Amino acid sequence: MSIRMSNVNNEAMKKINLSLVLNTIWENEPISRRDLAKLTGLTPSSITNIIKRLMQDGVLLETGVGESSGGRKPVMLHINGQSGYIIGIELTFYHITGIIMDMRAKKVGKLIEDTRLKDGKEAVVGRIIDIIDKLINQAGIEKAKVLGIGISAPGPYDHDRGILINPPNFHGWHNVPIVDIIQGRFNIPTYLEKETQAAALAEWWFGGAKNCDSLFAINVNKVGLGGGMIINGEVYHGFFDGAGDIGHMIIDIDGMQCTCGSYGCLEAMATGLYVQRYVVSEIKRGRTSAVSINGADVDDIDMDNIFEAANSGDLLCIEAFDKAAYNLGIGIGNIINVCSPDVIVIGGEIPTLYPQYIEKAVTTVRSRAYPGYNKDVRILPTTFGQEMGAIGAVSLVLHNIFKILP
Ligand SMILES: [Zn+2]
Repeated sequence: MSIRMSNVNNEAMKKINLSLVLNTIWENEPISRRDLAKLTGLTPSSITNIIKRLMQDGVLLETGVGESSGGRKPVMLHINGQSGYIIGIELTFYHITGIIMDMRAKKVGKLIEDTRLKDGKEAVVGRIIDIIDKLINQAGIEKAKVLGIGISAPGPYDHDRGILINPPNFHGWHNVPIVDIIQGRFNIPTYLEKETQAAALAEWWFGGAKNCDSLFAINVNKVGLGGGMIINGEVYHGFFDGAGDIGHMIIDIDGMQCTCGSYGCLEAMATGLYVQRYVVSEIKRGRTSAVSINGADVDDIDMDNIFEAANSGDLLCIEAFDKAAYNLGIGIGNIINVCSPDVIVIGGEIPTLYPQYIEKAVTTVRSRAYPGYNKDVRILPTTFGQEMGAIGAVSLVLHNIFKILP
């Protein structure tokens, strides 16, 4: 479990070490300090500092004694699961998902409701508040035990001020101070992160990118594509919180037109929209496919029918996905060139509906990307599927509540 940290600053290293220690305890508790040092590879003084901090917060307890091969028996450390709870809320166009987790990183409750945006902003915010209330009640805990509430939502957003600026298709939502609203209602520290950055945090804290320095998470959906990144243990927001917006990175100057007006953006070249347009244009050129046989108007071919046909072996639909995946691979190569992450995680609707997509993209990265080390960059599917946003929101709280370390 060794980590390359030569270029990581002190604060970030503390964050990475904390996550490493908590994860090691979650997986191995009860555990002695000695085994903790052995498994994490951290120095005894780092271990001592982190444990001191976690014990001050009541998160860690010392109990019982472990097995010993002679001499004094070691004191065992374990997590006080009831020391605190974290709530993660994911807000999307379709659903509001809420999860409550205890300090053992065990999910103790989950709720999903339709967002029903047509009911208006106040009603939707009211539903979020209602879900938080229900999660606290169902867990049977005091509100004071909730250490933080994380919210994952579509951008654009103002991370520092906790404001949703104007999420696409959220009509009437302009500069909504969601953090102030939720924090004001519950008096619990509340944090906001864009959905793709939250996905990156979920993978960094709990998923396939655990204990790495730097990670880039990509969400590929039917119509949208976005990214989020953690650089040296911290979410990288960039100017105007715009870092990771790779959907409009141009990968083909003569490519298909994008919803933004430009041509050949990754979003226009690698999402379900590309697959649909490719299949339609090839059928118009005279090719056949299972999706064109029922006599329906070619322009009305449904994206879900294309997914189904590809999964049943339809050659044209498979070819369309292969091309979209190839295009994503080119985009990933560019990302590796710019920020050189240890791990790239791919999630979203497309890899869920057509799992071979990731494999094809990886083949492109390995064969086309420039740097020699691209073969060592791990490229993984997301660990969490549909729960990615809510788990990301929980991770966001974890990432913030232990910020001031000794
Ligand atoms: Zn674009």
